[in-house]
Amino acid sequence: MIRITDILDKVSENNPDADLDIIDRAYIYSAKVHEGQMRLSGEPYLTHPLEVAYILADMKLDSVSIAAALLHDVIEDTYTTSEEIKDMFGPDVSHIVSGVTKLSSLAFDTSQARQAESIRRMILAMADDIRVILIKLADRLHNMRTLHFHTDKQKKIKIARETRDIYAPIAARLGMYRMKKELEDTAFMYLQPEEYLKIKTLVSKDKEEREQYVVTVKDYIKKKMDENGLECEVLGRYKHFYSIYEKMVDQDLPFEEIYDIVAFRIILNTIPQCYEALGLIHSLWKPVPKKFKDYIGVPKPNMYRALHTTVIGPYGERIEIQIRSWEMDKVAKSGIAAHWGYKEGKRVDEKISNTFAWIQKLVEDQKTIRDPDEFMESVRIDLFPDEVYVFTPRGEIKSIARGATPVDFAYLIHSEVGNQCIGAKVNGHMVPLRYVLKNGNIVEIITSKNQHPSKDWLKFVKTVKARSRIRQWIKIQERKRSITLGQEMCEKAFRKYRLNFNELLKSKEMQKAVEDFGFKAIDDLIATIGYGKITPLQIIRKVAPKSELDEEKSILNKIIGHVKKKKPKTGVIVHGIDDILIKFGKCCEPVPGDSITGYITQGYGVTVHRTSCVNALKMNPERQIDVEWDRDISETYPVKIIVRSSDRIGLLADVAASISKHGSNILSAKTETRENGVVETFFTVCVNDIENLNTLLAEIKKVKLVHDASRKS
Ligand code: MN
Repeated sequence: MIRITDILDKVSENNPDADLDIIDRAYIYSAKVHEGQMRLSGEPYLTHPLEVAYILADMKLDSVSIAAALLHDVIEDTYTTSEEIKDMFGPDVSHIVSGVTKLSSLAFDTSQARQAESIRRMILAMADDIRVILIKLADRLHNMRTLHFHTDKQKKIKIARETRDIYAPIAARLGMYRMKKELEDTAFMYLQPEEYLKIKTLVSKDKEEREQYVVTVKDYIKKKMDENGLECEVLGRYKHFYSIYEKMVDQDLPFEEIYDIVAFRIILNTIPQCYEALGLIHSLWKPVPKKFKDYIGVPKPNMYRALHTTVIGPYGERIEIQIRSWEMDKVAKSGIAAHWGYKEGKRVDEKISNTFAWIQKLVEDQKTIRDPDEFMESVRIDLFPDEVYVFTPRGEIKSIARGATPVDFAYLIHSEVGNQCIGAKVNGHMVPLRYVLKNGNIVEIITSKNQHPSKDWLKFVKTVKARSRIRQWIKIQERKRSITLGQEMCEKAFRKYRLNFNELLKSKEMQKAVEDFGFKAIDDLIATIGYGKITPLQIIRKVAPKSELDEEKSILNKIIGHVKKKKPKTGVIVHGIDDILIKFGKCCEPVPGDSITGYITQGYGVTVHRTSCVNALKMNPERQIDVEWDRDISETYPVKIIVRSSDRIGLLADVAASISKHGSNILSAKTETRENGVVETFFTVCVNDIENLNTLLAEIKKVKLVHDASRKS
């Protein structure tokens, strides 16, 4: 339990010149008027103002704030008037206590209008004297710490929600991260008790092992800094539960996959040392691209400064490291409070409102914006600068990362909505899927059962959830395709060997083969065959009796021959699968440069068609697979061309000469004469790619009396 001497000690430790008398007098007065009142805990009421005052003393606030903290409930809960406070403790203390009292009378409600009104008053109080809000936050913190004494469950939840939705964001916006974390964690405990407990248990599990890990990493860092003569302190601490939870939700990861639940911090003396330390860290471990943030060069609006980086640690794991000076560390803990600290007696408001221009902006806003919805909107933008607010067609508000697209929004609604998202309307108008959502947009997602996630979406989605869902879908599809393909490859190879693959599936030998290759299930083995990492022959060798193997040696050789031939250089890459048989559609004869698509064909691997091919359009989309040209391979490809010309002697020879002059081989040629005297000659020639084909056609057109030369479509 906090005693007044603890507070006085703390204050004079922070500032030997502090006015202890006003604190002492405030304490005595508070004790007198609260006499006989009890907290729900059964403790004397006075414990509450003492705790609140101590929180503020710990944040190094001035004597006026601490005196006001001791008196913060006297107007509301006793017969004291603000006039009396003014007479006894002066205008500043009285002004602050009145401000806190006004805020205490606010009832937060689900209704947007009343919530807006509450926030409006909070902002006015902040602009008037920020210390009002600091006391209110400390008051809330202590009330949250003792919330378990409340018996009314609904009330507890209401208070916790308010804390999470209003007070924690305000603490964050004021840069008071320590306060924010504790408010969030306690609110989390009441609002989502199961999730809270789960994370708490998981964090304490393997604690010894993890602590050993923290020591190891700290030692690595410390050693590196020492070697380079950098004096520093290295800390490794657990992130707070709510941030772990948010990470799980945002990134859609199970706890087991969140390895960076520990954050490391290096605290040094000067700014140049911070940058030097950063360089040393990056030379020690590989930095993760795009994760480096320089909040020293560009501080956050709430004055937070530090260097942030994420690196790949000694065990291949991600490590988040913050590098900052002692001064920055102080600011990061107490935020706005650190900015005037123990400068006694000075009016701090002006300096604060200059530094925190956003408070000023909100004050302006509340004057001009009369519509509560609109006002809440502007507050939200300011309290959560990294998010935008959009609406569902039913008017439900959703927050989403700045830069998010309709696809991100669709995944936010539901994974299936994301997977089947085919288009989007914003404010009633169709927009491209890569449209960047803006505040206030009403977003309607159009879905179709036949739609599937596309790899292209990965190029523009912003949220981790959308990204991971799309990847997951692609992975599952690739696996499905590999199983189909592997199954077909096995059936075919086994048949050649006069074995029935499907009958052997459940045999002991097959089970053993699965285990020998290190798999748990037969599907894993078949998928691996589909991926081309294992050949069907390797399975045949395991499951076929030895004697049969000898008897059928010739057949075996045939299969080996077949398997070896399976990897001709086709110049086409099938995504996720190498080493598979590729054929080209005879109907459309794709050449490099054509837009192409692949279809899995029973027993024949993948057939590549031009995307415009009519046959390809008729194929079952389930069998479709992404393919692309391999630029590293130079092959020639057959392609049919039609040359239209007037009939003349020697024409065919001239065209043929033009083709071979161009360096292409002619595989076949056939001439047909039309009624109007036009001759059509069909050639099959070999070209390297589309460019090569186009120059060839241009050459042919130069031949005398040739009207046209084109690719057969
Ligand atoms: Mn209170």
